[in-house]
Amino acid sequence: MKLSIGHLFPELLNLYGDRGNIISLRRRMEWRGMEAEVTEYKLNDNIDFSKLDIVFLGGGSDREQLLVCKRLGGIREAFKDYVEGGGVVIAICGGYQLLGHYYKLKNELVPGLSILDIFTESGVGRLIGNAVIKADFSDVPIVGFENHGGRTYIGDHKPLGKVLFGSGNNGSDGGEGVIYKNVIGTYLHGPLFPKNPHLCDMVIKNALEKKYGKAELAPLEDEAEYKANSFIVNKYTRK
Ligand code: GLN
Repeated sequence: MKLSIGHLFPELLNLYGDRGNIISLRRRMEWRGMEAEVTEYKLNDNIDFSKLDIVFLGGGSDREQLLVCKRLGGIREAFKDYVEGGGVVIAICGGYQLLGHYYKLKNELVPGLSILDIFTESGVGRLIGNAVIKADFSDVPIVGFENHGGRTYIGDHKPLGKVLFGSGNNGSDGGEGVIYKNVIGTYLHGPLFPKNPHLCDMVIKNALEKKYGKAELAPLEDEAEYKANSFIVNKYTRK
């Protein structure tokens, strides 16, 4: 079995080791005897979404987001069709904000893809630090690191998880990230997948099921990863 991963604009959207997520996806597939083909797209490259099984968008600074948003109009329609058809997307921080209608800065507006009915506004001060969230799909919390000036409001969408520690989407409503069909948006960097193998596997499984129907993932030796995960969970959530 093989998955094609499209890494969008890594030269602009790649903060705090987001690239480690791609390495994690690839290795966890290879360790199970599967293949992952990764294609990096530069800003003006043509993207054929019909050939992709996972789309990855990383985080970026406000300046980089302003550069990327100029290109989004050209891919919006095809990207939206991909999402509505069940295509798998993982979008982190700046990439997550770009899935929404806009990211409003003090003196500028970064128009987004409007793929999700969400929006972001910059607030006073940055929301920075380690974070722990609890998602519905697993008893094991998701841990990560957040650093964003934007506050995201997801309206009627479902958050990826409930904030157990940290700020999450906006520091006020207790939600972190968003989950819609096979799209995950999150503020958690870190890199996210090496710290949370259960989340990485969910993304792989969703992509395999979309492509091949049923998919079972053989367990891997993740003792060290889960030890590290629970160390962080205990450190920040134990009363
Ligand atoms: N520039 C955005 C913000 O500050 C996203 C930052 C990021 O991707 N870490 O909100």
